[in-house]
Amino acid sequence: MTSPLSCGRFAPSPTGLLHPGSLLAAFGSWLLARHHHGLWRLRIEDIDPPRTVPGAAHAQLQALAAFGLAHDGPVLWQSERGDAYQQALDRLLASGQAFICHCSRSELAARGGIHHRCVARQPRPDPAVRFRVPAGSEVQFDDGLRGRQVQDVHAEVGDFVLRRADGCWAYQLAVVVDDAAQGVTDVVRGADLLDSTARQILLQQALRLAVPQYWHLPLLLDAPGHKLSKSLAALPVDSARPVPVLRQLWGLLGQSPAALEGHDDLHDLLAAARQAFDPARLPRTDILLPTGALSAPMLQNPPSPT
Ligand code: GLU
Repeated sequence: MTSPLSCGRFAPSPTGLLHPGSLLAAFGSWLLARHHHGLWRLRIEDIDPPRTVPGAAHAQLQALAAFGLAHDGPVLWQSERGDAYQQALDRLLASGQAFICHCSRSELAARGGIHHRCVARQPRPDPAVRFRVPAGSEVQFDDGLRGRQVQDVHAEVGDFVLRRADGCWAYQLAVVVDDAAQGVTDVVRGADLLDSTARQILLQQALRLAVPQYWHLPLLLDAPGHKLSKSLAALPVDSARPVPVLRQLWGLLGQSPAALEGHDDLHDLLAAARQAFDPARLPRTDILLPTGALSAPMLQNPPSPT
């Protein structure tokens, strides 16, 4: 039996404004934490300068505040965490679980794109650092929503990058170091990251960190297999009218609309939601939205019907 949730978190990358899918993950994670009287931490994953959109992080923080999704403690900015990532990397290098890799993308592509041993023909000035994934590295875990997951990380992923050739820290290393530093017991996030979880568990084991409970919330799709965030409908949510937006998200999270009836004040609605929230009703598969389902009041500028 798992222990009750005591600390959740939301960890957006500042690559744009919050869209319905990311707000659904934030609200789901907030509800799970607050329903169990747990803490809810916030972290801005700004370690990828080429993908960072100026001003996006502050806009995300403002949107979360407008929706009343208050967090505990200070916001952790990954761009300020280089020393912690370096320490973790040094430990993995010292134990031989990480190694410096001169392979280029094209050399790896010629061998199926998966790194199992170095194939570099010459050293490069900017080598990456990879985590060594030996044969037989099969990871199993029980996702709170999707059940038992099994991944053969050696066969399916291979040795993965911890620090990129451009010097940036890789998401997999940073997320593991920071979930541990923030005391996160339950990682609640979108199912697009389900596939990363086995790599994160391998790193937690190598660094002797606690493995949190994982919950992967449904993605919003606007056509079978088509993630909403990659389509026209990935428009920013309208934070000027938080109550109707939260009601829509509450419904998408499988919760009973009746529980929020009569709660028209934002803080009153959130108090009712955290109490009435029923984790057993959370959807376990992605959500296919009918055309036009996310119109006003969800979006700032809903696309005009064609
Ligand atoms: N920063 C990631 C994103 O915005 C989420 C990371 C996580 O929740 O583990 O997609």
